[in-house]
Amino acid sequence: MNVASNTVVTLEYTLEVEGEEAEATHEEPVSFLYGHSHHLPRGLEAAIHGLPAGPFRRSLPPEEGYGSYQPERVSVADRGDFPSDTALEPGSEFYAQDADGSPVAVRVTSVEGDRVTVDANPRLAGKTLEYRGVIHRVREATPEELDHGHAHGEGGCHH
Ligand code: ZN
Repeated sequence: MNVASNTVVTLEYTLEVEGEEAEATHEEPVSFLYGHSHHLPRGLEAAIHGLPAGPFRRSLPPEEGYGSYQPERVSVADRGDFPSDTALEPGSEFYAQDADGSPVAVRVTSVEGDRVTVDANPRLAGKTLEYRGVIHRVREATPEELDHGHAHGEGGCHH
C-alpha cells in the first residue's frame, strides 16, 4: 500500500539542509496518521506522498518547505525593548508578538551595543530541504485512529 491520506506510516527520516542534519528520527522510527501530524517538519508528508514502503529520497524547494526568506521579517530593536531577563545574544530564540498579537518565534541574529537584530523568519526559510529515510510500513488507519486523529501503537490508544 502507498502513503496517502488516512494511512498510518512508520518511518525513519533525516532532514538535511545545506549538508547539515537539521532534524532526524534517532533510534526509533516514528508512526503517524498521514495528513494529521502537526509535529513533523514541514514538507515531510509531501516528500513521501504516494510512496510504498522502502527507502526514499526527495529534495523540496523552499516553497514546499518553510517558505521563502522574507527580509522584511528582520527588524532592529532597542535592548531596552526586551524584558531584562531575556538572554540577548546571537542564536537566542524566544517568542514575540507579531502585528496581530499572535506569538511568533524570533531569533537574535546580532547584537551591537543597544541594537538587537531579530529575525522572525523560520530557521529553515529559504532553504532547500533534503529528505531521505526509510518507510518501514504503510497501513490503513483504523476507524478509532481516524476518530482520534492520530496513530495508535501496538495495543491501542495509550492516552
Ligand atoms: Zn487515540
